[in-house]
Amino acid sequence: MTTRILTGTNKEFTISKIVCLARNYAEHARELGNETPAAPVLFMKPASSVIGDGEAIHIPSYSQECHYEVELAVLIGKQCRGVSAENALEFVAGYGVAIDMTLRDVQNQLKAKGLPWEIAKGFDTSCPLSDFVPAAAVPDPHALNLKLAVNGEGRQDGWSSDMINRIPQVVAHISAIFTLEPGDVILTGTPAGVGQVRSGDIMTAEIVSVGRLTIPVA
Ligand code: ZN
Repeated sequence: MTTRILTGTNKEFTISKIVCLARNYAEHARELGNETPAAPVLFMKPASSVIGDGEAIHIPSYSQECHYEVELAVLIGKQCRGVSAENALEFVAGYGVAIDMTLRDVQNQLKAKGLPWEIAKGFDTSCPLSDFVPAAAVPDPHALNLKLAVNGEGRQDGWSSDMINRIPQVVAHISAIFTLEPGDVILTGTPAGVGQVRSGDIMTAEIVSVGRLTIPVA
């Protein structure tokens, strides 16, 4: 059972399903040669994919190309079903930092065959996740700077203002399909600059005023 603290409060959440957006930043969609989608593209990671700050990524033996994607993570605090975008932020308990580790070679093969992405996106250790800061401590979740470095060298440096689908719309869209429960997490997509890591690399992911992760690759 994986839990995360809501910092500055006595609340602890058991992480449950993790609903992720693909292609939610136009520049990243372009760098992978994808069209910008009309509706959010969703996939899920299991709770068993989560690791914490300082824990190592283990790249599965069936991949030769493991990519990082730094993302703003949204923690759901109350059960939420069919909510409107106007009311959606009431269900958000906090914000954190995640890295959506992706086996790009495997994902590309699955995409080409029209197959689901889970083995490229949901393997053990594929979801480094920080603790969360309370939503009230983040005045504007669409004004956050997301950064990722590998071995101290900057690779991603983007802003949550560039999201195509913003958080209220995302929560509303998802909650019309999957009931969101306390402890569910939404990964809101990655800005441009994704790339490969190899055994021995160390990633540092940071969202200023939200959190930071240091994750080695085993
Ligand atoms: Zn992603």
